[in-house]
Amino acid sequence: MDCYAVIGHPIQHSKSPTIHQAFAQAAGHAIRYDKIEAPLGGFAETVDAFRAAGGLGVNVTVPFKTDACAYATDLAESARAAGAANALKFDGSRCWAENFDGIGLVRDLVDNLGHAVGGRRVLILGAGGATRGAILPLLAEAPEHLCVVNRTVDKATGLVASFHDQGAHPDMLWGCGYDALVGHRFDLVINATSASLTADLPPLPATVFTPDALAYDMVYGKGLTPFLRLAQEAGVRALADGVGMLVEQAAEAFAWWRGVRPGTRDVIRQLTVPLI
Ligand code: NDP
Repeated sequence: MDCYAVIGHPIQHSKSPTIHQAFAQAAGHAIRYDKIEAPLGGFAETVDAFRAAGGLGVNVTVPFKTDACAYATDLAESARAAGAANALKFDGSRCWAENFDGIGLVRDLVDNLGHAVGGRRVLILGAGGATRGAILPLLAEAPEHLCVVNRTVDKATGLVASFHDQGAHPDMLWGCGYDALVGHRFDLVINATSASLTADLPPLPATVFTPDALAYDMVYGKGLTPFLRLAQEAGVRALADGVGMLVEQAAEAFAWWRGVRPGTRDVIRQLTVPLI
């Protein structure tokens, strides 16, 4: 049987096996898909062992996405730009790396939630790996502009500068701290910080949301997070968490490995936790 896995630390919480088995069943493919907890500092050895046992590809999650990039022999543009990979495919001695998080986000926003990015003012909170992976796919949708805000301001400005070096226009992509948001409004506000994992709230002024904004928290399965509650109390009606992004990035990986793009609607519905 063709073997795949998700590798992370910790990994017990991962929904990837459920998602990929659902895709495989719908496609009529028989696959094996495991969870593997690699020891910290032991990513390469864990992947080597999986390949030696015949594994064909892996998803990669926290904290190994940069290790996955370093491990690969061939980087797709998405992985190179993000400096991180969330999917690997093995072909003899070659290892191909992709980062599907950003495209998963855009598919969820545009296809599932019906919120176009093109022409919209977009704000993304956080300057970690998830934001880095999202920038090129968001810019490819031609927003009016994209602002990256971060608690550690240097990380936001440094991150956008690395994309300016790759050709992004400074009027289109800019970085700042939370204080600088006063007086600015956005049509799409994406929380890509890890604050919701600990029920924390970034110091975001509630005035950033336009009345028709979408507030999107990349964290999933946590219900109404403090960020989503802030948006709701500011009058925002369109609220979403990151479950659709999770399923969409998995669908991209499945299509890349198996040559069949699975439907995602039923799996998203199955994994959705109500936002209450
Ligand atoms: P990183 O650890 O790389 O970055 C975390 C970011 O969050 C940093 O910018 C950090 O700011 C900021 N942050 C953390 N706590 C706070 C706080 N209390 N207030 C303000 N800012 C804070 O994480 P990732 O980028 O890898 O992931 C971010 C989130 O996205 C995670 O919750 C993850 O679960 C989610 N995610 C969801 C996916 C999906 O498929 N739905 C896929 C990938 C990620 P600073 O630099 O100042 O420390």
